[in-house]
Amino acid sequence: MSTCIVTGGAGFLGSHLCDHLLAKGHRVICVDNLDTGSLQNIEHIRHPKFTFLSHDLTEPLLLDDAVDFVYHLASPASPIDYARLPLHTLKVGSYGTHHMLGLAKFKRARFLLASTPEVYGDPQVHPQPESYWGHVNPIGPRGVYDEAKRYAEALTMAYHRQQGVNSCIVRIFNTYGARMRPHDGRAIPTFLRQALQDKPLTVFGDGSQTRSFCYVDDMIRGFVLLAESDVHLPVNVGNPKEMSLLKLAEAVIEATESRSEIIFEALPVDDPQVRQPDITRAKQLLGWEPSVELPHGLRRTIEQAGVERLVGASD
Ligand code: NAD
Repeated sequence: MSTCIVTGGAGFLGSHLCDHLLAKGHRVICVDNLDTGSLQNIEHIRHPKFTFLSHDLTEPLLLDDAVDFVYHLASPASPIDYARLPLHTLKVGSYGTHHMLGLAKFKRARFLLASTPEVYGDPQVHPQPESYWGHVNPIGPRGVYDEAKRYAEALTMAYHRQQGVNSCIVRIFNTYGARMRPHDGRAIPTFLRQALQDKPLTVFGDGSQTRSFCYVDDMIRGFVLLAESDVHLPVNVGNPKEMSLLKLAEAVIEATESRSEIIFEALPVDDPQVRQPDITRAKQLLGWEPSVELPHGLRRTIEQAGVERLVGASD
């Protein structure tokens, strides 16, 4: 049995990771300040090996326990959240990551940083391999998130090279599943919320921009395979099956058997035109690839979350 810290453990991905690690027999210490997460995401966990610590990671975290793994996920993650919390996003990416790397060093724990393909910005290379250095606007509205993650990656590699921290970095491409918030602004929860109420689905631009969507169980399996490997360089984890936002809207309408129509709205600033992972490294080093197809993943999301949670408070 290992002891794992999951920062951001009351969020969407963090809560699924807590479930997965507990099911594997590990002890889990979930650390979260509930900025964008919720106790509702972990209220089903009644497990003697589970501890919740309410803590803001921009402050140091002192722990007596031995720790084997630090999964560092805490950060606002959706454009709506980091637009609302710009300084906090920069602080949790910088101070928060410093504090958790310091803790991993002190405890001699394996450290996993949850990073993002936003480090590639609006990519000039397609699909994006880990060797691509990116094309990022540091002063645009998304800069607070993109640069916080780029800084966190640089910090992680510095702690690894100079301080000997056993670290790894996962670049998480768009992931979906139960416990996403209906109003967090990301495409799948927005479309599901609209479709389940037979309201128009709002597609940005002409809907030709592409994304690749990975089901949450596949993503969590990738996290754990990476954390349990001896890989130190960044690894893309995501579903390489690319689709336009318009096709996604149609798939959601089909999965929900909705009567909604599709309408078009202005594109947000610096919204990337394409997004598709090159997962060669994940396949070669971890033997990982996604297994859940979108229609199946959408149905599982609806079953697990339930219509009421996907719709949330009315618009
Ligand atoms: P989320 O908002 O659901 O979870 C983030 C969690 O971090 C929340 O529970 C929040 O309360 C917590 N948190 C934020 N600031 C904190 C602080 N200072 N101290 C303690 N806790 C804090 O988002 P998510 O989608 O689960 O994302 C988790 C991680 O994965 C993030 O680092 C995000 O950047 C990364 N990521 C997610 C996706 C995706 O598709 N979901 C894609 C790329 C990267």
